Amino acid sequence: MLPKVRAPETRRMITLEVRGNTKPTPNFSTVTLGGAELEHLKPMGFDQTVRLFFPREGQDRLRMPTLSNEAWMAELLLLPKSRRPWVRNYTIRQARPELGEVDIEFALHGDTPASTWARHARPGDPAGIFDMGVSYLPPPHAERQLLVGDESAVPAILAILEHAPASLAADVVLEVPTTADVRPHLTAPEGARVHWVPRDDANTPPGRLALEAAKALPPPPPGRSYTWVAGESALATGLRRHLVRAGGVPKPDVAFQGYWRHGRPSPG
Ligand SMILES: Cc1cc2nc3c(=O)[nH]c(=O)nc-3n(C[C@H](O)[C@H](O)[C@H](O)COP(=O)(O)OP(=O)(O)OC[C@H]3O[C@@H](n4cnc5c(N)ncnc54)[C@H](O)[C@@H]3O)c2cc1C
Repeated sequence: MLPKVRAPETRRMITLEVRGNTKPTPNFSTVTLGGAELEHLKPMGFDQTVRLFFPREGQDRLRMPTLSNEAWMAELLLLPKSRRPWVRNYTIRQARPELGEVDIEFALHGDTPASTWARHARPGDPAGIFDMGVSYLPPPHAERQLLVGDESAVPAILAILEHAPASLAADVVLEVPTTADVRPHLTAPEGARVHWVPRDDANTPPGRLALEAAKALPPPPPGRSYTWVAGESALATGLRRHLVRAGGVPKPDVAFQGYWRHGRPSPG
């Protein structure tokens, strides 16, 4: 499930520190990271993704990989766990280069490494990032778009909407844990029809309602559309299968990413 991405031309490991931690809604935390090394990040907007490094419990400092090429993960895995940081994938929700700051928005979902870190992150805590680029790449023939995500992809889709041209015509499906997680005020082009899908039920697996809601929409016009879907793996693969098989949408016009998988921790 490798998405096509626009990777940064140059990149390096960047060490930052937490500058703030707020809760936009009950099941999300927005952690602001800042520092002088942010001058080495080129903000690309849209769904710009980073590898986020943060210390494990009990570690007194963050040890970032020294390599900035593909070998960094091997370098990391060679470290004993006592010195190895956690690493997870996150989206830059907002960048403020003039202040040397970026925001990362965490969907909180249990006592996992990233959720626990995000709940407790305090100003001065260390964290690192490594730029992975952008996967939202609508082709010129896309007259209409379909953007779909569960809560893990809400930050990416909100950032995509903020950077989209005023001419965007799109259906947008955003699944969130509860009604209180719906954001009534969005920055989005007028032609974006946003459908919030709150689960409000701990027994419904994330991604299922977004898949149902997206399938119930009028199908995007084959050959003249672009779909970007991310979230739990079954949402991403399920919607792509549906659009291609039932809607006749050409496979390259669907960008799909399994951001996470039920019962499977992220490697690293
Ligand atoms: C390109 C990309 C960009 C991403 N951007 C964001 C982002 O901006 N914000 C964001 O919140 N997430 C984002 N994610 C998803 C995030 O990387 C995963 O959810 C990650 O697994 C979280 O790490 P963890 O330590 O919390 O859980 P892990 O240790 O990886 O997993 C522990 C358990 O939690 C479950 N789990 C993992 N994620 C979720 C979830 N969201 N809901 C419910 N259960 C879960 C796993 O199935 C596993 O059973 C992105 C993923 C990718 C690939």
